[in-house]
Amino acid sequence: MTKNIAVIRGDGIGPEIVEQALKVLNKVAEIYGHTFNYTDVDMGGCAIDKWGNPLPEEMLKKCVESDSVLLGAVGGEKWNSVPGDMRPEKGLLRLRAGMGVYSNNRPAKIWKQLADASPLKKEIVDKGIDFIIVRELIGGIYFGEHKTEEENGEKKAVDVLAYTESEIERIGRIGFETARKRNKKLCSVEKSNVLDSSRLWKAVMHRLAEEYPDVELSDMLVDNCAMQIVKNPAQFDVVVTENMFGDILSDEASMITGSIGMIPSSSLGATSCGLYEPIHGSAPDIAGMDIANPIGTILSAAMMLRYSFDMPEEADCIENAVSAVLDDGFRTADIMSDGCKKVGCSEMGKLIISKLSRK
Ligand code: NAD
Repeated sequence: MTKNIAVIRGDGIGPEIVEQALKVLNKVAEIYGHTFNYTDVDMGGCAIDKWGNPLPEEMLKKCVESDSVLLGAVGGEKWNSVPGDMRPEKGLLRLRAGMGVYSNNRPAKIWKQLADASPLKKEIVDKGIDFIIVRELIGGIYFGEHKTEEENGEKKAVDVLAYTESEIERIGRIGFETARKRNKKLCSVEKSNVLDSSRLWKAVMHRLAEEYPDVELSDMLVDNCAMQIVKNPAQFDVVVTENMFGDILSDEASMITGSIGMIPSSSLGATSCGLYEPIHGSAPDIAGMDIANPIGTILSAAMMLRYSFDMPEEADCIENAVSAVLDDGFRTADIMSDGCKKVGCSEMGKLIISKLSRK
């Protein structure tokens, strides 16, 4: 099979970790007889430096025309003072909107080899942590009207949180469909005791539930969910929620699993062209030192094979290789523990490649 992948290396550690993921993809292509063509795309701080724009139109076009997009990370101190509309993160928001990816799917899973890295008590971790947060990605308060105006001699800032029924329905369906492929439990998270947008959210979820009688739907207020994720994460299978709540809860969920360097994500819309990226940022503090953990990006590439290219065997091949390297005791600095062998970013990439094989 031939697939065209748009590659955004980005800023900070982005280029280092993406490099390892591409090497892994090349080896998988060799083993399974596929061809992966890569098109480089500038986005983020490097695009601001080069083009004066975090995501020029022609770069977005390359992404939309690809079969999927692999992204490292963008942003850094250097661009913190540029105006809001030109910040590296704006490139990311425009990319998501331009690709029409309205669902961000983040697994929160504990790798058995890294159970000690969780900040939670052992008895909580031992019950197992394996759930997915399905977050609405291109609506809600991040995409509503933002303005700051003068009122009665002082500044007033306004950010609008709005959702239509159809926006809720399409993300709700991804939640139900995801639950259907897992343990058939979907928890819808909102703030319906206060917000109108949440009351509509809840009503639409319950309407949809009638079409998915095999999935058990529950409701949870977002503040309670934040507590339950640290108190009893084993209760969750799939969580579906709106943009800002999902942003916060998915970061919390990633913390309880140990290192943010390990966690992949996918963003999908109505087509199979998805955006795949690790959940962490550009980690400017360790950029260029060859010590970043590339596993989140490598697992993002695996998710791309599974969800966009319909290559489950190839995705398993990558995930099994990662597990085998962890079994052998190799760790990057962020996940290092006593008795393990510390390796850098490129060495970790090489080790994973050495474990790739066809079953
Ligand atoms: P960050 O995720 O970049 O870093 C947080 C901490 O985790 C740092 O100590 C970093 O060294 C460590 N870390 C992150 N990824 C790692 C990896 N793969 N291996 C080892 N350690 C890792 O978050 P931040 O410091 O808040 O943000 C840095 C920049 O990244 C900012 O400009 C921010 O806007 C941007 N950012 C980008 C994205 C994205 O591109 N999707 C997401 C979040 C933040």
